[in-house]
Amino acid sequence: MSEDQQRSMEVLLSEAQIRTRVAEMGREISAIYGDEALTVIGVLNGSFIFMADLVRQISSPVRCEFLGLSSYGSATESSGVVAITKDLGSSIAGQHVLVVEDIIDTGLTMKYLLENLSTRHPASVRVASLLSKPARRQVETQIDFLGFTIEDRFVVGYGLDYAGLHRNQGFIGVLAPGRFGA
Ligand code: 5GP
Repeated sequence: MSEDQQRSMEVLLSEAQIRTRVAEMGREISAIYGDEALTVIGVLNGSFIFMADLVRQISSPVRCEFLGLSSYGSATESSGVVAITKDLGSSIAGQHVLVVEDIIDTGLTMKYLLENLSTRHPASVRVASLLSKPARRQVETQIDFLGFTIEDRFVVGYGLDYAGLHRNQGFIGVLAPGRFGA
């Protein structure tokens, strides 16, 4: 992204705001699990930066796993069709699982994922999401740890992409305010 583009993008959440909230979330999670080990499952690709920062703020023993799910591709609307593009590397049976997601929008992806994970017999499953857009929800969704609630706007940065780009941007910005009527 050029400096001009970066200047013209509206900053929704600054790097400092994100850092502070992620540290708080890490403390909330550590308080729940204590000395119990947890398996953190990052939903690829969008959660990789959030997960990397979050796990370093958790004091409980942590295993890191990744699961690839199809999502937006280069469009900005959810199709509701979810497919596993990369499965877990090992069994989660009997483990305390924390699913880490970048954003919960319609909730369809998380609904599918939680149903899928429950068939693998984990000891427990909780959900940590950096962002939530409740205005867009189509199905009830479990979120145990939430970073920020945001309005119905398409955001990029801090792992979130548009057409594969912007994931490496440190802040979360609104790509095209007009696109969602904002
Ligand atoms: P859901 O199934 O809850 O509608 O969609 C979840 C997925 O949609 C997220 O993991 C993310 O990949 C994508 N998504 C939803 N809203 C946004 C957004 O505002 N920006 C970006 N970059 N992706 C989004």
